[in-house]
Amino acid sequence: MELNIQYEKLGIRSSVFEFGEKILSPLAQRFQGIDETAEYNQLRVLSAMHENRVGEACLMGTTGYGYNDLGRDTLERVYADLFGGEDALVRPQITCGTHALALALSANLRPGDQLLSVSGKPYDTLESVIGIRPAAGSLAEYGVTYDQADLKADGSFDFEAIKGKLKPQTRLIAIQRSKGYETRPTLSVDQIGEVCKFIHEIRPDIPIMVDNCYGEFVERTEPLSAGADLIVGSLIKNPGGGLAPVGGYIVGRADLVENAAHRLTSPGLGKEVGASLGILKDFYQGLFLAPTVTASALKGAIFAASIYEKLGFGVFPPSDHIRHDIIQAVTFGAPEGVISFCKGIQASSPVDSFVSPEPWPMPGYDSDVIMAAGNFISGSSIELSADGPIREPYTVYFQGGLTWPHAKYGILNSLEYLIRDGVISEEKLKQEI
Ligand SMILES: *Cc1c(COP(=O)(O)O)cnc(C)c1O
Repeated sequence: MELNIQYEKLGIRSSVFEFGEKILSPLAQRFQGIDETAEYNQLRVLSAMHENRVGEACLMGTTGYGYNDLGRDTLERVYADLFGGEDALVRPQITCGTHALALALSANLRPGDQLLSVSGKPYDTLESVIGIRPAAGSLAEYGVTYDQADLKADGSFDFEAIKGKLKPQTRLIAIQRSKGYETRPTLSVDQIGEVCKFIHEIRPDIPIMVDNCYGEFVERTEPLSAGADLIVGSLIKNPGGGLAPVGGYIVGRADLVENAAHRLTSPGLGKEVGASLGILKDFYQGLFLAPTVTASALKGAIFAASIYEKLGFGVFPPSDHIRHDIIQAVTFGAPEGVISFCKGIQASSPVDSFVSPEPWPMPGYDSDVIMAAGNFISGSSIELSADGPIREPYTVYFQGGLTWPHAKYGILNSLEYLIRDGVISEEKLKQEI
């Protein structure tokens, strides 16, 4: 059977399919580049697994205290070698990305110390961690102060501002690699390398931590190889490959990882405890799949940018920009656009395709938010997902796709819904074909 008929059975009209094919044909070369990066990173993952002799026994878990957990300890060696660190903490007891970041920060800062962000305002949830927004248990409550050097208007590091903000009490530098849900360019590993060199020339004693969320496997190297001291991320994003059901990681300098381990479990116990239960097979297999899963998500981001840019909507990053993370923003300028887009994504999901997302007043946001995610793993944003606050300029943030065919279908279905709901006219589409 022809491909277009299969799409039609799944609700995609022929004009949407044809428009998609037309958008895709000039993308072939870029997709090949993404596949080559995935190939390169697949070999890096395999090599770390071979060197650390990952064996069948590593896939078994422990219970109780989790002493002598071979699989857990080997996985941490694999992460350390793969990402270029001395040591690693990769645990299901780290509940999410925010927790991993909070752990890395609180374990490596002491009362009187100052944390300096050199990439401007950090991710929303870190405002409570740091105490920018008052919260119980924040770093501020423990006497840790905070300062930030904003990025320049073009999104690059402001070296002069950073130099001026390095104080005797500055004890940790934070860099956020991904734009998250801001409209600034995501930082490349090269850019992060330059700022690490600059800071370490002035103050070799200050460790640099990178929030690596959404950046893993997008490039051929990771920030530790470029001069950072610690990287932190979530396993329900890129490195979990869609299989890890929970977890976070901290990789880098041995002393900094060790501090985090003693904070996660207990002083005196550190990395020695923490049963892995039955989760290790998914951690290993997810890591093994992560390079190609990340490639699928990247193709989806570029395809979505190309489609909506062609139809005259604001997209960030623009379709032809080199990618450093997997998030794509599309600005519709009206609430209906955000809502129809999310409904299309939800309807194309493998799970919960029959439910319809609605905007609701989510805690912590100053407007209603709509979220589309028909996921195998709750909240997993390496799976095809979209969300957007219902406020000016009506931007939807889109990411993920465990396979490229699924990402492609989801994006075509978002367009289908936008036409069906009258946000985009089919005539306009036909003119573009
Ligand atoms: C997702 C994300 C976080 C927080 O991770 P959660 O798992 O949602 O707590 C922090 N920083 C960035 C840049 C992220 O993308």
